[in-house]
Amino acid sequence: MKVDIVTIFPKMVEGPLAEGIVARAIAKGVLDVRVHDLRDFTTDRHRVVDDMPFGGGPGMVLKPEPLFAAVDAIVETRGAEAAASGGRVGERAIVLTSPDGERLTHRVARRLSALDHVVILCGRYEGVDERVREHLATETISIGDYVLSGGELPALVIVDAVARWVPGVVGDEASVSGDTFARGGLLDFPQYTRPAEFRGLGVPPVLLSGHHAEIEKWRRAQAVERTRRQRPDLLDTTNER
Ligand code: SAH
Repeated sequence: MKVDIVTIFPKMVEGPLAEGIVARAIAKGVLDVRVHDLRDFTTDRHRVVDDMPFGGGPGMVLKPEPLFAAVDAIVETRGAEAAASGGRVGERAIVLTSPDGERLTHRVARRLSALDHVVILCGRYEGVDERVREHLATETISIGDYVLSGGELPALVIVDAVARWVPGVVGDEASVSGDTFARGGLLDFPQYTRPAEFRGLGVPPVLLSGHHAEIEKWRRAQAVERTRRQRPDLLDTTNER
């Protein structure tokens, strides 16, 4: 899967991509993630990416031209690379990060993971020129009902959540499909590891019993109970997620 992230703060994104499961997937070649500095797509001497809002008001707005130019260049490069190896780029999404977008859920992450190419645009300041949303982005995603100062952390959250579903990224597939939200809409069951006794605190004896059927039954019951207590909305089958 190909991912391109466009930002005015490339370093903010590169650090986290260099650690953990995502970094390993990049090293293995399962994920091809590139980070682009929006300023590289400006044409003026001062590399200006923002301007004052028409109609007045506080703050600055990301200008449309560099974002359109960045996406044009990315699409062209990816297309040329695919052509050079005799193929073409498959289904693509151009995602604008925005607090008013579609909420990132398990379902959205899974849908994106089936695409061949995802471009993520990181906003800053008061946001981006509306023409980017209307005519460049194919969708808008929010990572929750709060406002962050930029789209970089959302971009990383999206990449991480999506990458887990790309085959070959997480070593043990069962680990992903057993996670909270994937597990038939249930939260995960409680996990314990050694030592079996710690500061006088034990672990549920069934887990030490070696009895797999009993352990499975216990885990399932715990998952259901935890979901009922903490997220009863997940048990409502009329809620799509
Ligand atoms: N004035 C805007 C907020 C701009 S925040 C508003 O009220 O809606 C600046 C940038 O941070 C946004 O363009 C977006 O890219 C990013 N951002 C902030 N909060 C976000 C969230 N919850 N999810 C996704 N992106 C977010």
